[in-house]
Amino acid sequence: MKIAFIGLGNMGGGMAANLVKAGHDVRAFDLSAEALARAQENGCAAFATVPEAVAGVDAVVSMLPNGAIVDAVYGADVIGHAPEGALFLDCSTIDVDTARKVTTAAEAAGYAMVDAPVSGGIAAANGGTLTFMVGGTDSAFVRAEPILAAMGKAVIHAGTSGAGQAAKICNNMLLGASMIATCETFRLAEKLGLDLQTFYDISSKASGQNWSMTSYCPVPGVGPQSPADNGYQGGFAAALMLKDLKLAMEAAGSVDAEVPMGEKAAALYEAFAQGGSGGMDFSAIIKTL
Ligand code: NAD
Repeated sequence: MKIAFIGLGNMGGGMAANLVKAGHDVRAFDLSAEALARAQENGCAAFATVPEAVAGVDAVVSMLPNGAIVDAVYGADVIGHAPEGALFLDCSTIDVDTARKVTTAAEAAGYAMVDAPVSGGIAAANGGTLTFMVGGTDSAFVRAEPILAAMGKAVIHAGTSGAGQAAKICNNMLLGASMIATCETFRLAEKLGLDLQTFYDISSKASGQNWSMTSYCPVPGVGPQSPADNGYQGGFAAALMLKDLKLAMEAAGSVDAEVPMGEKAAALYEAFAQGGSGGMDFSAIIKTL
């Protein structure tokens, strides 16, 4: 299949390489010459503009920083330039409203489109083990699934347009709040004189068990290997967690949902990032407690 890939950064670079490995003819565009050069090394063909990259393709995949950029790129350079009937898959994490707006514009011009944000970080993007949450019509999902499956371990149809983004930000709001709760719990356990490995052994088998504890423990040397064991480097940057929490707060406001724990998590991550730690893994927030 001929696939244009727009946005070959930390995530998109590995994802495009996996499409090449799956036998697709991948046509890459990125504003960064460095990202494009890496894409070429991984077997993609590099193009100087988006309209050139999307000419004659069956599908367009994008992995861009935010909703304003996704809106601008599709509005100016993809819609009307890709062949009619092509399938668009936006894998960026963006707000629900922009995802729906871009899909509506694409459909009005004769294209099919899904929002397909991912769970999993750079290692999962490189390893082809991302989880995709997909919003779109049944027929668009059926077309998108095999393309996404070449880049991930799970592809789940979340619902109609925007549902993939909704699922992503709900999941990450829960993750942000549960990480902070896990961090403060270990700090309290420590102050109460508990041995932290012993507390982990108890709580990981009791009702406090959660993913932030048992798969991504914020305490070095406790639980499985995690960014905490690597000086909180790598993993999922606190700045990206803050981005997702802000999207969640925006979405909650748009439907009048009460999210007090999400609000608190957003405020704590905002302070953490403003303090200069946005580049650290999000579990490093334990250092502030
Ligand atoms: P990144 O900044 O490394 O990559 C984004 C790429 O888009 C860059 O190479 C940049 O040059 C390019 N770009 C920006 N504007 C462009 C334009 N107008 N046209 C073409 N290319 C353009 O970011 P990333 O970490 O790869 O994240 C991409 C998306 O994935 C974001 O929406 C992010 O929230 C989401 N995400 C990231 C992670 C992660 O762990 N990094 C995890 C899950 C989801």
